Amino acid sequence: MNPSAHIGREISYSRNVFLPITNLCRNRCSYCGFRRDPNDGAWFMSPEKVLELAERAKATGCSEALLTLGERPEVHGEAREKLDGLGYKNTVDYLVELCRQILELGLLPHTNAGTLNERELLRLRRYNASMGLMLECAAELSVHALSPGKDPKLRLKMIEDAGKLKIPFTTGLLIGIGESPEDRVRSLLTLRNLHERYDHIQEVIIQPFVPKPDTPMAGKAPPSVDELLKTLVTARRIMPEMNLQVPPNLVRDLSPFLLAGANDLGGISSVTPDFINPDNPWPSVAELKAAVERAGSVPRERLPIYPRYAKNERFMSNEVKKLVLELADEDGYRAG
Ligand code: SF4
Repeated sequence: MNPSAHIGREISYSRNVFLPITNLCRNRCSYCGFRRDPNDGAWFMSPEKVLELAERAKATGCSEALLTLGERPEVHGEAREKLDGLGYKNTVDYLVELCRQILELGLLPHTNAGTLNERELLRLRRYNASMGLMLECAAELSVHALSPGKDPKLRLKMIEDAGKLKIPFTTGLLIGIGESPEDRVRSLLTLRNLHERYDHIQEVIIQPFVPKPDTPMAGKAPPSVDELLKTLVTARRIMPEMNLQVPPNLVRDLSPFLLAGANDLGGISSVTPDFINPDNPWPSVAELKAAVERAGSVPRERLPIYPRYAKNERFMSNEVKKLVLELADEDGYRAG
């Protein structure tokens, strides 16, 4: 890539509230510091808590509610009891209602609940501006030996189903979990093929593994900056038009990443921490903008649905479209 090609380029980000609905999960990924067992630090957020945080986020100018949770938490009796007490048969029923209320309140939901089937995706689509699932890697890896939901075939099926349903979709690679450089290339090519068929992948995240205490991978080194940059450059070559995101709280210096082809910095929050990487606080909006400007680029706030999809009503339900029209400017970015 021509090193000067990024100069003056727009670098997008969104302002969100991170809602970790539950850390109960059916999987046990070797690197995960988020998941908890019942009676050992597990939580299940009440609708009151979710809506209180969403209201606070709305008041501070956020546009996105990021609902993230463990996959199929109802495999645990504790989650089933909570859902039962709240009057829901399963987690998806609960999520649909939470998203409906959050949307009504004026924030655009983006749900990442692990693997979901086509029917579940369709129900959530009605109240979600976009949805997400990290592919992580298209190859089977030993770090996922205890995680049935990390079977790449299942994840690719869900990403494809989202394409059939015209859901603007966020996915990405997790770098440094035992995959080879060839696996990374294959993962990127697989995502490109899916996007070429369905035109629905709005961004690909290049995310570094970060070691967490008290996990089987606590002692493993994170990927080097060089490895991350090489992956980013490869991704840019494979997908010249794709939005490529680097999480700004997981890399020290943004400049080389912007130079290597990243054009998005994801969602940042002043309301809640990054519950997945609690030791890596997000920069403030002012810090983020300053870092982008130092690299010679132009920061621009977006919604959780990327501009191209915010201007294409085939990718939105009527309910979502109404709020997107209120929040977006004429280019499809965040108005105001
Ligand atoms: S699926 Fe997600 S929450 Fe569950 S163990 Fe793996 S990384 Fe953790």
